Amino acid sequence: MTDPNCIFCKIARGEIPAKMLFQDADVMAFHDIRPQAPVHFLLVPKAHVATLYDAQPEHERALGKMLALAGRLAREAGASDGFRSIVNTGRVGHQEVYHVHMHVLGGAEPLGPMLQRRK
Ligand code: AMP
Ligand code: ZN
Repeated sequence: MTDPNCIFCKIARGEIPAKMLFQDADVMAFHDIRPQAPVHFLLVPKAHVATLYDAQPEHERALGKMLALAGRLAREAGASDGFRSIVNTGRVGHQEVYHVHMHVLGGAEPLGPMLQRRK
């Protein structure tokens, strides 16, 4: 449920600060510490789920809420003309923090291509 060493669990427990946009019993949303777009925040289940490989039926409410909240929070954060949501998983997905999170990225201008095209 919670991992003592996990950075996002520490944020969920209030042990380290984050610029919080929203939280309830199931999920939290906070600004990414190294933003890659004018709007860049993370939607995160409060329970420790390491990766989407580890998602179980009991996580459906939090995972569903992350999608259901993304548009409202994106608009409130200033991304009113579209955004991108990304969940990186594992080595191939370049996951850095092993606690599931959905990136929400946007701004006034269209984002770059989703993936760099291979030459
Ligand atoms: P990834 O696991 O690759 O999907 O991305 C992890 C993201 O978490 C990166 O964009 C980091 O900038 C972000 N991040 C890491 N630590 C923090 C923190 N303490 N507060 C906010 N964002 C963070
Ligand atoms: Zn965690």
